[in-house]
Amino acid sequence: MDSIKQLDDAYVAHTYAPRFPVVLTGGKGSLLFGEDGWEYIDMGSGIGVNAFGACDEVWQKAVSEQAAKLQHTSNLYYTEPCARLAQALCERTGMKQVFFSNSGAEANECAIKVARKYGAEHLGPEHYTVLTLKNSFHGRTLATLAATGQDVFHKDFLPLTPGFAYVEAGDLEGAKNILDSVPCCAVLLETIQGEGGVQVMEPSFVAGLARLAAERGLLLMVDEVQTGNGRTGKLFGYMHYGLSPDVITTAKGLAGGLPLGATLLGGKAAGVLTPGSHGSTFGGNPVCCAGALTVLERLSDDFLAQVTAKGAWVRSQLEGAPGVVSVSGLGLMLGVETRRDAGEVLAGCQARGVLPLRAKNKVRLLPPLNIPDNLLAQAVQVLREECAKQI
Ligand SMILES: *Cc1c(COP(=O)(O)O)cnc(C)c1O
Repeated sequence: MDSIKQLDDAYVAHTYAPRFPVVLTGGKGSLLFGEDGWEYIDMGSGIGVNAFGACDEVWQKAVSEQAAKLQHTSNLYYTEPCARLAQALCERTGMKQVFFSNSGAEANECAIKVARKYGAEHLGPEHYTVLTLKNSFHGRTLATLAATGQDVFHKDFLPLTPGFAYVEAGDLEGAKNILDSVPCCAVLLETIQGEGGVQVMEPSFVAGLARLAAERGLLLMVDEVQTGNGRTGKLFGYMHYGLSPDVITTAKGLAGGLPLGATLLGGKAAGVLTPGSHGSTFGGNPVCCAGALTVLERLSDDFLAQVTAKGAWVRSQLEGAPGVVSVSGLGLMLGVETRRDAGEVLAGCQARGVLPLRAKNKVRLLPPLNIPDNLLAQAVQVLREECAKQI
């Protein structure tokens, strides 16, 4: 392991805090295999990406068959996986069109461009500001960085892309004041702030924000990069809130482990993008889309009910357990506030073969959506014991 670690430390840019001391060489379902010969229970799925775990057979077959047929074409031509995936996404959401890209940040970049074009065309050239929430996370490109309502990500990269205003989650009065004083084109929010510490938005706040946007003719845009694709027990997080968004962005779990971003356009945003207004060389890649089709097909109502049930069971095991302060989240997107430092709990879990994530001061759980109950129970037991340890 030292040699891989040394190579990585020497040659890979140091944009991440030192990696955990585990070299992963493979996986099967909800198990990950380390170079050290250990089997780890995956409670992070590559930050909500490997929706059906490692090397899932259905996904693997679709992806490898498409890779053997045609791995890429330019956007000058049609391919079946791209067209079918767009159809499936629209039919499942009531949206009208999809723009495909390769990541969450790109999906949000597209949404921001749509918002600006919509604002200029329907509200006036001064209507270019997007209202986002404090503590949000929308990506690392210059525009999505500006959309992200956290100063820690902004410092070192000033000046920020103009055209963003921020309001505290829950502060409807503040949102109204901004929308009344700044000409805006859209509001953008995560229904559960993932990177922000698995913070679930209050239904009354979300409904109020949607109403404020609707009254002013602004686009309602939901960032479902992390909450999408079954993660919360519904296909998309906004579906818990009864919203009708104009724009939905998603990525992470969409293609089950391959890079794919999608910006779904409906309502007031349908038809805003016109030839030449946006593009991506890799967007809609047929291998990624073939993988995504298998993910979407399996996210049936029955399956989503199982995600909800697994999440509820985890919650029942952790809420009120010794050393657990609180549990937040929906479905299999959970944040566990611990009495011990979250980093120490994480390290303790790793040392015992369980790999959760972290979000702010919480231990974050994003296991594969189909994690078997016995592995989930083992992982939760380890987490409980680590939480209960004395400080
Ligand atoms: C991860 C994430 C992003 C950024 O996605 P990338 O694929 O890393 O660009 C954007 N929004 C939310 C809500 C996310 O969780």
